[in-house]
Amino acid sequence: MNEKSPEKKEYDKIAMWLLNLECNFRCPYCFYDDSQRSMKTRAADWVRKKVPALDPYKTRFATPEEIGKFFDETGKRWYIQISGGEPFVYPKFVEIVKRLSEKHLITIGTNLSLPIDEFISKISPKNIWSFYVSMHLGERERQGFSVEDLLSKVKKLREAGFRVEINYVMYPPLIPRFPEIYKKFEDEGFELQAKVFRGAYGGKLYPKAYTEEDRKVFYDFIPSEIDRAASFDNLSFTGVPCTAGMNLIRINPGGSITRCPHDRERLGNMFKGKMKLHKKVKNCVVPHCKCTLAIKEGCVDFRKRK
Ligand code: SF4
Ligand code: SF4
Repeated sequence: MNEKSPEKKEYDKIAMWLLNLECNFRCPYCFYDDSQRSMKTRAADWVRKKVPALDPYKTRFATPEEIGKFFDETGKRWYIQISGGEPFVYPKFVEIVKRLSEKHLITIGTNLSLPIDEFISKISPKNIWSFYVSMHLGERERQGFSVEDLLSKVKKLREAGFRVEINYVMYPPLIPRFPEIYKKFEDEGFELQAKVFRGAYGGKLYPKAYTEEDRKVFYDFIPSEIDRAASFDNLSFTGVPCTAGMNLIRINPGGSITRCPHDRERLGNMFKGKMKLHKKVKNCVVPHCKCTLAIKEGCVDFRKRK
């Protein structure tokens, strides 16, 4: 093995690209539940399943070349964090990453249930910062994918030189299994990261409803102070300078570009090749911020949180 994910994160600007809402999993706590997946998307899913040749994506999305050109023409090196939905169900996903990773740095958020051999054979890890893999244990097993299958995939990626981070959502019925699964991955040299569940379960609202016992199981495995604060506190930076909009953008599935996931100020559309970034730093104008990437990458000063 010659090439590896880079040691240093070097980039000019960040794009949080929510590539799609479509997913082969149906996690009960999914933020993009069926009510949020638009009628059009659900109809497209249905058509694709019934008549694969009529892939509706063919007419809905830009090509890898167009997307690559969009970023290249800015003259900047972007750190593009791709998430979904499940990115690997997106047509030509491997080609898109291949094209983007020629010049830009990429992280891929995935449930890693679909085959990855093509990805490994076509893409060099030298511009792939990491795979951010979500375990989603209950849904993984319900779909007939095993923990062993996931373990063998992350080992394959590591052997091919890719950095891999793995998170485990603390959905209440899955908390008791965390220590056993943690050990299984630890034995192979991986450290699972705990991620809190947000939502209702058993008539209670989480994360508030976690008991002391629950927290003992996973609190120390939440990776950083910023993650802990974003998990349990209502972080706010209203009125605090933030470089989002200038150095960080969010791209939505339809291509629209906004300042960040919380501030919907429109800054253009990737599929139309249009983007107008802020020329100078502006204050945050929204009441809440859970954008740990913006905080960790220094867009806003964590110490100024309210
Ligand atoms: S894998 Fe992610 S996007 Fe897919 S259903 Fe689960 S939480 Fe939602
Ligand atoms: S502080 Fe957070 S919510 Fe406010 S603009 Fe920055 S990234 Fe967006």
